[in-house]
Amino acid sequence: MTEGEAGSYDVLVVGAGPAGSMSARELARRGARVLLVDRAEFPRPKVCGCCLNPRALATLDRAGLGRLATRLGAVELTAMELATEGRRASIARPLGVALSRDALDSALIDAAREAGAEFLPGTTAALREGPPDRPGLRLQRGDRAWDVSGRFVVSATGLSDGLFPVADRATPAPGAKLGAGAIAAFAPAGYEPGRIFMACGEGGYVGLVVLEDGRLDLAAALDPEAVRQAGGIGRLARSILEASALPAVHGVEALPWKGTPLLTRRPARLDGRGAFRVGDSAGYVEPFTGEGMAWALAGGEALGAILADALAGAEPRPERRWALAYRSRIARRQLTCRAVAKVLRTPWMTRSLVRVLEVRPSLARPFLAIMHKAT
Ligand SMILES: Cc1cc2nc3c(=O)[nH]c(=O)nc-3n(C[C@H](O)[C@H](O)[C@H](O)COP(=O)(O)OP(=O)(O)OC[C@H]3O[C@@H](n4cnc5c(N)ncnc54)[C@H](O)[C@@H]3O)c2cc1C
Repeated sequence: MTEGEAGSYDVLVVGAGPAGSMSARELARRGARVLLVDRAEFPRPKVCGCCLNPRALATLDRAGLGRLATRLGAVELTAMELATEGRRASIARPLGVALSRDALDSALIDAAREAGAEFLPGTTAALREGPPDRPGLRLQRGDRAWDVSGRFVVSATGLSDGLFPVADRATPAPGAKLGAGAIAAFAPAGYEPGRIFMACGEGGYVGLVVLEDGRLDLAAALDPEAVRQAGGIGRLARSILEASALPAVHGVEALPWKGTPLLTRRPARLDGRGAFRVGDSAGYVEPFTGEGMAWALAGGEALGAILADALAGAEPRPERRWALAYRSRIARRQLTCRAVAKVLRTPWMTRSLVRVLEVRPSLARPFLAIMHKAT
């Protein structure tokens, strides 16, 4: 199909982050005609801590993409430095890898294309009213618009959840933080590759990690009111870093910080109007535990398989199977992450935790083992 023409597919996938590319690849691999669209041009940066945990790596491996991270030069992560109010605890443990989102997301799109999916970058999609058995999208690229239809639509649009009318979207939970990220051109002294640095303080937390090309990725979850009082995201990030025991990042407040919609959100319905939500579009928890990409990849893989079965006539109720798969593979784990986020949102609990881990870092191991268990 060329731009500007109407087209018909088995599945239309909107959003080419990990959830969308993984769904598209899984479907195409199983013989479906898939169109994957994203409003961004790639490679594109994305607000993210850029840490793929062992669970995410296990999903890539299972999908036959086990060598992807290594091929892209991902940095193996062997320790976490947790810092607050001048104190710092160091926890040694395999934590996965650090990999920039520009590299990862482009490689996953390539994998989907190699499997047979068609990809349109720079193209914004909107859900179009139509018969429930033939949902459609209106696509727009520049000033050109055209319609496409499919048996199913996959909404992998991330936190914006933008395909659906406002009333049907996932809603932020009370006290939700906003996400923010920036990339510094190089890592200052004290930020060694292979370690996740996490500064927790009044108003939120900032995570830092050295990427495969030596740049320093900064990702934060911040209280919107604290951002307002500090006079901006960069200023609040600087004050959290200064109050922690981590090395200074010169000019941190002047980096080109980018914000996200509010993070911890009540899950939306997983399907509606012929569309299935996956990844952040289906609901999201704060990013401290570095699970978002693991959920997006696992969700994409599972939803792709379910819809492929439905297309082959082997799954009469894909909505129900997706709801069950989501509950068992993702929603249950989000409960653990919510509990961790709650601790980190409470300054006295974080202080106590860092004090204990300063003396006995091994106490973090059972917890990290549960968080990062690969299955
Ligand atoms: C501060 C922060 C730190 C994080 N740190 C980590 C971490 O270290 N490890 C981890 O695993 N996770 C982390 N996460 C979470 C992770 O970034 C997300 O969970 C993950 O990106 C979700 O993938 P996705 O495919 O669902 O959505 P996304 O990656 O957000 O992709 C959605 C895509 O949809 C496109 N899109 C949206 N609307 C439309 C439309 N209407 N038409 C066309 N295209 C559209 C967008 O352009 C985008 O490319 C972090 C998140 C934040 C905010």
